[in-house]
Amino acid sequence: MAKHRRILLANLEEPDIHTIAGYERCGGYRALRKAVQMEPQKVIDEVKASGLRGRGGAGFPTGTKWGFIPKNGDKPVYIINNADESEPGTFKDRVLIEKKPHITIEGMLIAAWAVKSNWSCIYIRGEYAYGYERLVQAVRECYERGYLGDNILGTGWSHHMTVHRGAGAYICGEETGLIESLEGKKGQPRLKPPYYPAVMGVYDCPTVLNNVETFASVPFIIDEGSAAFAAIGTEQSKGTKLVSASGHINKPGVYEVEMGYSIEQFIEEECGGIWKGRSLKAIIPGGSSVPVLRAEEIKGLTLSYESLQGAGTFFGSAGFIVLDDHTDMLDAISNLMHFYAHESCGQCTPCREGGHWIEKIFNRIRRGEGAPGDLELIDNLAVNMSNGRTICTFGDAVAMPARSFITKFRDELEGKVRVGMR
Ligand code: SF4
Repeated sequence: MAKHRRILLANLEEPDIHTIAGYERCGGYRALRKAVQMEPQKVIDEVKASGLRGRGGAGFPTGTKWGFIPKNGDKPVYIINNADESEPGTFKDRVLIEKKPHITIEGMLIAAWAVKSNWSCIYIRGEYAYGYERLVQAVRECYERGYLGDNILGTGWSHHMTVHRGAGAYICGEETGLIESLEGKKGQPRLKPPYYPAVMGVYDCPTVLNNVETFASVPFIIDEGSAAFAAIGTEQSKGTKLVSASGHINKPGVYEVEMGYSIEQFIEEECGGIWKGRSLKAIIPGGSSVPVLRAEEIKGLTLSYESLQGAGTFFGSAGFIVLDDHTDMLDAISNLMHFYAHESCGQCTPCREGGHWIEKIFNRIRRGEGAPGDLELIDNLAVNMSNGRTICTFGDAVAMPARSFITKFRDELEGKVRVGMR
């Protein structure tokens, strides 16, 4: 296959691409200059026509989201960049933040122009200390260059931006949990409805909330046009996508691929194949909260929203975790459940209690103390913390991997339960 087009990761070899001078030399902020010559609605229309979908996990159409912002001007409109990248197996936004921070800032400014916003914030996870420094420096450079502040590029428009560090809670990556945290409260998700950020976001005001990669995709769309972006990828998955590949492969890393790229080819050509001469057992394609796929299930699948959804899983955050045939699937799922049990915000009983129960049952099976019906009990707990029974979708994020591991590796897990029944 021909080498993929690099849009987000273009010019990464330039040593100063993280600075405003390096970024501008490679065409940076050209799209912003173009955007402010356009009617704000035209900018939204372009993003809609591009087919760009949110890169944070849900895959919601970005232009449509921007179009939900009320246009009556009654309340201030906020822009929030979700840089709280915490899904296990996901580290692709980190590359943009650390190596090319201006690309996501430029996307935020274009969004701000489109929805007539005067204030924005990048919410970055506390553990990304180096990335935080890079973003603060980039924002400072934007003020010095006149891309932030008053009368930006002579338009009369003012916009101000801050960078805010989170304190390390996974749930603050959920958009309403992030907003609560940003407002200085406990990072606990809000009920939807009524708290859809587009109408009741930060301080109950309209808020555009997208993630780092989503905003970073916008300058290309404005600079080269929606048609150029829409020409890349598949019918329902447009453009290029960053994939963070980890696990039992020869070349873990962050790769930019065109949507629709074969998963088998991705593993062989980009990831360098399975390590140590072993064979593939399973993949988790979209961060650890999506259902696992057995090796034989990936045949013919592609890196796209529709292909993975058709296979009963999700592209999610594109945290692509590869497991080889030496992997103990009980150890793997127990490890994931330990993480999720720890990260529940505690508001909803099924999630607060269910996650810990599931973790405990998996652990007792690991100790050789499994009991008849343990897998059925886990499945029952998982069902009762998903499908709308909780405030946010964290309950589903626990249930989906737990249920899929039980379903797809039933024989292996039942064998472990039987050890405890001897
Ligand atoms: Fe908190 Fe879990 Fe309820 Fe989400 S589902 S609000 S994480 S308790």
